[in-house]
Amino acid sequence: MAEADARPGRPLLLRSTRVITPEGARAASVAVADGRVTAVLPYGAEPGPGARVEDVGDDAVLPGLVDTHVHVNDPGRTDWEGFWSATRAAAAGGVTTLVDMPLNAVPPTTTVRALRVKQAMARSRAHVDTGFWAGAVPDNAAALGELHRAGVLGFKCFLSPSGAEEFPALDRAGLARTMAETAAFDGLLIVHAEDPARLVPQRPGPRYADFLASRPPAAEHGAIELLIALARRLDARVHILHLSSCGAVPLIAAARADGVRITAETCPHFLALTAEEVPDGATEFKCCPPIREAANRDGLWAGLADGTIDCVVSDHSPCTADLKTADFATAWGGVSSLQLGLPVLWTEARRRGHTLADVARWMSYGPARIAGLGGKGAIAPGHDADFAVLAPEETFTVDPARLHHRNPVTPYAGRTLHGVVRSTWLRGERIAARGVLAAPAGRLLERTG
Ligand SMILES: [Zn+2]
Repeated sequence: MAEADARPGRPLLLRSTRVITPEGARAASVAVADGRVTAVLPYGAEPGPGARVEDVGDDAVLPGLVDTHVHVNDPGRTDWEGFWSATRAAAAGGVTTLVDMPLNAVPPTTTVRALRVKQAMARSRAHVDTGFWAGAVPDNAAALGELHRAGVLGFKCFLSPSGAEEFPALDRAGLARTMAETAAFDGLLIVHAEDPARLVPQRPGPRYADFLASRPPAAEHGAIELLIALARRLDARVHILHLSSCGAVPLIAAARADGVRITAETCPHFLALTAEEVPDGATEFKCCPPIREAANRDGLWAGLADGTIDCVVSDHSPCTADLKTADFATAWGGVSSLQLGLPVLWTEARRRGHTLADVARWMSYGPARIAGLGGKGAIAPGHDADFAVLAPEETFTVDPARLHHRNPVTPYAGRTLHGVVRSTWLRGERIAARGVLAAPAGRLLERTG
């Protein structure tokens, strides 16, 4: 790293035979000044006065990933994760912007005061740029406008129990009240969409099939139908978090065609893993909604390919290893993949004939747009010079000991993946290279769109 950061802010010309621009992959030299892309020039362009030249050869240059679904759990549950460890994992994995979820931290981000506490925790520890979602819970409807003005990117709510006592779900009346409130200032409501009335009590024990049966697709479909109806009535903006059931894709597509302002994300684990392969007792695979069957996975890929699903983000939700007991009924739900999202998704995407330009749209541009982070997620003039340099054909085997998140539990241990992140760049400076990380230089982000 010594050679990288000697003179921060110096202009840069980053060369590659495969720069992933919004128009597709091409040989180019990306000109950077003051941390921003100023031009995407022909490959052989001469550097401007004083510019460093970095030639990464045939390694691909993607826009840095924007992971809008990360549970950092800081403050309050820092034995689970924290801004230092989470943002190191992000940087190592090519993620240059993360957005923190409001729950599992104590206090949860449901007041401006809690937001300020969280920002104070992140300020000196963030290795990547960091934004914040706030929470919408039964008693804070009056605080939402103030949180919006304080720069949060939107509001998360649950319709079913969240797993964290201090972050209760909204009932139907509460959801309608909250959505009317966010619609009043055209804020974004992001929703964990499972209808509690359609969840099934789970038999305790290690069988994955019992867990899967307890969270049927109908629970997702019911919640999404309710959200579509309310968003239509209130002309509100709604985003579906971690879509797992492909049966909801036609519902979302039809609503959107009809003018309802609804977007959706899914996660690498729903696109790469299947229920059939989850061993009994292997609760590192447990998340809510659950990883479903192989045919469902194909349906999610179709929804991604046709643009109904807008983006792919991690839902990195770690805990201490002891909470991942062998009992699927009581183990903590959450898959930790912040550092691995890019190779996990790329491995499956390439097999299905997708390109790195697709990956950049799903993991950089798409989430940035939904979160209202206009300067992020594209290699184009005026955007922040955030890059992930990837060797797409190279493979590696996942070794939990090389993961930077605090409790390196992962369902991907031992898997061979395509795509090695060679280096990560934040606003024109290299922040990670071959596993070595620079000092924290992340900024705290506020909504720009
Ligand atoms: Zn989550």
